[in-house]
Amino acid sequence: MNNQERFTEPLQQELAALEAQHLRRRLQVIEAFLPGGKVRVEGRELLNLSSNDYLGLAGDGRLIQAAQEAAARWGAGSTASRLIVGTLALHEQVEAAVADLKGLPRAVLFNTGYMANIGVIAGLMAKGDVILSDKLNHASIIDGMRLSEATFYRYPHRDLERLEGLLRKYAGARRLLIVTDSVFSVDGDLAPLRELAALKERYGAWLMIDEAHATGVFGDKGSGLAEALRVTGGIDIHMGTFSKALGSFGAYVAGAAPLIELLHNRARSFIYSTALPPPVLGAMQAAVKIVRQDPAPRTYLLEQARLFRLRLQDAGLDTLDSQTQIIPVLVGDNSLSLEFARRLRQAGLMAVAIRPPTVPPGGARLRFSLSAAHRPEDLALAAATIIRIGREMGLAGTASVRPGARQMIP
Ligand SMILES: *Cc1c(COP(=O)(O)O)cnc(C)c1O
Repeated sequence: MNNQERFTEPLQQELAALEAQHLRRRLQVIEAFLPGGKVRVEGRELLNLSSNDYLGLAGDGRLIQAAQEAAARWGAGSTASRLIVGTLALHEQVEAAVADLKGLPRAVLFNTGYMANIGVIAGLMAKGDVILSDKLNHASIIDGMRLSEATFYRYPHRDLERLEGLLRKYAGARRLLIVTDSVFSVDGDLAPLRELAALKERYGAWLMIDEAHATGVFGDKGSGLAEALRVTGGIDIHMGTFSKALGSFGAYVAGAAPLIELLHNRARSFIYSTALPPPVLGAMQAAVKIVRQDPAPRTYLLEQARLFRLRLQDAGLDTLDSQTQIIPVLVGDNSLSLEFARRLRQAGLMAVAIRPPTVPPGGARLRFSLSAAHRPEDLALAAATIIRIGREMGLAGTASVRPGARQMIP
């Protein structure tokens, strides 16, 4: 074995082990974005049911123009981190627009949702503090907890009783934080935000929510699930992203002024990284304005999602407790989920099999995400195709009725 092989051999072995468990992932190149929420992949046109571009804003002319104008006026880069000379008037404008949209005093931008979560959690929580996190929270929340060196517990998904037990036990901690996704990214179900706000009040904890999949989709102003459930004031830390429904890139944290000012001083992912560049800020600003002014796309999206879900459920497919534009179909077995995705692709549908470690072992599934860019006729055909292939694979008709599924959106 030469030196090069001594390096690559163990890497090859690790890849082969992943392959053997049907867990190896590969990058899929998108050759073009096409109208109607479609993509071209390997020369074929597919309906894209895996994108987070829930409102179809990523290709919207208004965002593109705003990005171009910001680049023309300010340049391609921000030239420094925020605390040095990277805070442009544009950052302040977008932060003010986000705070206003959220109905909260202040906001701060982060370069990504991942960086927001690790920056906030590790910036506020330290050794000896306690964090209680929903089992299905996004990986960036988990990484933030690890970085923080606080003690953390992952309570069973949406299990308020178990959470209350932990709150009772740790009520004396210096800082006690409950953290949850508002819309769960893989199951497409909702966190019980009202109940969580009541619990945090009772036990003197803090509550942080991640609205990555809810921003732009829920609420009268499109600000997220907290707004839709009218519980904004009961939540201390509001995090969300611009990278999904808002069509571009970046993230925000909103809340009380001292929270935001402390994050400027404590969030290392904010402090030690170059500020978001002007074209992205331009797109962000345009997206906030569009979302505020036009509820029609999110209304259409949620109505289409309801129809899509009902069609799959009526055929006996298991969509878990989805109540959103994210609709899973539970498969269970890793290789079966890959086979399902492969057959869907042959039939013109782009949907990705989600496997462990993103979901628990035995929880492999297809995850469909809808967009306001999708046409009703394409979605109807997609649902029919999913049902047909699901039947061929013996998946339809196996779903148990879920008494836990309840409608939480008024
Ligand atoms: C996508 C996502 C993130 C990360 O956001 P990025 O801007 O893509 O880094 C964080 N939390 C949740 C729940 C997400 O779905």
